[in-house]
Amino acid sequence: MQTQYDLVIIGGGASGLMAAIAAAEKQQKILLVEKMEQAGRKLRITGKGRCNLTNTSPIKEFISHIGSDGRFMRNAFSLFFNNELMQFFEEKGVELNIERGSRVFPKSSKALDIFLALINTIERNKNITILKNTSATDLIVSPNGIAGVTINNGKNIDIAAPKVILATGGRSYPLTGSTGDGYSLAKNVGHTIVDPIPSLVPLVCQEAIPDELVGFTLKNVSLTISDANDKKICNFFGEMTFTDNGIGGPIVLSASRIISRRLQAGEQLRATLDLKPALEHEVLDKKLIRELDENGSRILKDALRLWLPAEMIPLALQTMTIEHYKRLNQVSANDRKKIMRMLKAMPFTIVGTRGFDEAIVTQGGVSLKEVNPKTMESKLVKNLYITGELLDLDADTGGYNLQIAFSTGYAAGKAVNMQ
Ligand SMILES: Cc1cc2nc3c(=O)[nH]c(=O)nc-3n(C[C@H](O)[C@H](O)[C@H](O)COP(=O)(O)OP(=O)(O)OC[C@H]3O[C@@H](n4cnc5c(N)ncnc54)[C@H](O)[C@@H]3O)c2cc1C
Repeated sequence: MQTQYDLVIIGGGASGLMAAIAAAEKQQKILLVEKMEQAGRKLRITGKGRCNLTNTSPIKEFISHIGSDGRFMRNAFSLFFNNELMQFFEEKGVELNIERGSRVFPKSSKALDIFLALINTIERNKNITILKNTSATDLIVSPNGIAGVTINNGKNIDIAAPKVILATGGRSYPLTGSTGDGYSLAKNVGHTIVDPIPSLVPLVCQEAIPDELVGFTLKNVSLTISDANDKKICNFFGEMTFTDNGIGGPIVLSASRIISRRLQAGEQLRATLDLKPALEHEVLDKKLIRELDENGSRILKDALRLWLPAEMIPLALQTMTIEHYKRLNQVSANDRKKIMRMLKAMPFTIVGTRGFDEAIVTQGGVSLKEVNPKTMESKLVKNLYITGELLDLDADTGGYNLQIAFSTGYAAGKAVNMQ
């Protein structure tokens, strides 16, 4: 084999960059292999270009945002958690702000500043070489564990290395370089891959979304998802946006994390949208009776403005099946029930999710059962470490996913130094 490095890191995203910095404290010759023309492409677009790098919530609450697999992160978080991450960036001169929901952003509101703090540290470190436009195509394994990596930058080259960190990310936003290569690399050396699916992603509905509604955002609404037997699965309150074939926005992305796998399995789920969550059913009904009475001569189609933004009217009419030109003084008790249902429980049939190109994270990945949670070392291949979104770990929006990437990268970088 050609070149000898102490450590090869595959992937220059949040996790791989942090792993390189942690490992460089001791490792003399580190090679960081990045398939794109620049590292950190996804990092630079996080948080709508502002980078919500972590969340200041205490560890128990933080872990609850990762779900049942959150326990896996306890060790890595005890080594390098939100405070350590914030201190790391502040020491590099990046001032930070804590915003609503304990979300942490750079004061400059520029994700680029987070990336530059990492890449400048790496580029100043003589122990680290970055090879860009270069893909890792294979892991080389000997009976003693990892032995190196095959890379390709026009031709295949075998690189000998006694330690390898695999930090290739998931499959979401593939244009950033996260094309899921790590799944086949890990699978080829024996790892189990929990089927990767899009998560934190808009949902696809059966109902036609009127053109005028596409891109329209509703604030302070409540969305409940139930199964075919009407059993409630989850409920979220906040902001929701209509897409050309369904619904998106913060509360929908949160719901998608809970239901993506069921949708992927072919289940159809029901969503009901409460447009007036602050008004109890009876209060709203009384208000409706009064307003129907006061506006008796108006036609329904126009009078819907009393209760809805103009953009919502075509969908409301489509949902209610009441004659559009009926005068309000002709609205029957049954019609009123339909109006109430439209306002408090507008139904949507959820038939799937949008694809990886719109998913904030990938759910699924390398099985956590096969990775040591203290070191991120593979339990199957000695001295192979697996970090970041490539692992079967994902979390809510709010800075949790980047902290997972940074903490697992750091844990692996430090563990390499203990060997
Ligand atoms: C639009 C968007 C916004 C987001 N905003 C936030 C946010 O504000 N806060 C938050 O916590 N999370 C956010 N996330 C999620 C977060 O960005 C990811 O969870 C995190 O970047 C994962 O880091 P990673 O290093 O594991 O993987 P990635 O960032 O995906 O990095 C993997 C790297 O590996 C490289 N690579 C892949 N295959 C190979 C190969 N074969 N050879 C060499 N290199 C390879 C890729 O090019 C890439 O550079 C966002 C995600 C998206 C898509």
